[in-house]
Amino acid sequence: MSGTIFTKIMNREIPADIVHEDDVSLAFRDINPQAPVHLLIIPKKEIATINDMEEGDRELVGHLYWVAAKLAKEMGFADEGYRTVMNCGESAGQSVFHIHLHVLAGKPLGWPPYTDKMKQA
Ligand code: AMP
Repeated sequence: MSGTIFTKIMNREIPADIVHEDDVSLAFRDINPQAPVHLLIIPKKEIATINDMEEGDRELVGHLYWVAAKLAKEMGFADEGYRTVMNCGESAGQSVFHIHLHVLAGKPLGWPPYTDKMKQA
């Protein structure tokens, strides 16, 4: 894997609003936020999609959720609630092929997430 834009963010080759870093993960604000709070939490290990996870990555992916909960508490939206999403593949809307956990908060979030047009398909 040659690396995506998230590798460049990890390597500080392009700027990002980084809100958390530890030895295995990085979290930063989404450049095109879909809610008042929109964070992306990535593993430093380059894994293209959920399908590319190896057995040894289970703890690493769990770690991303641990970071989500930690940031939710620290940033003050844990109690009001938030959504975590990890898109897998093009039909799900994945556009950056380095797995990332979206964390959305700060407004009521509709559910289910699909549109009426998609319902008819
Ligand atoms: P996905 O569509 O699930 O692959 O999500 C990729 C996300 O990365 C989108 O929400 C983009 O807005 C976000 N994104 C793309 N480039 C950047 C960037 N340079 N800094 C922060 N977020 C980015």
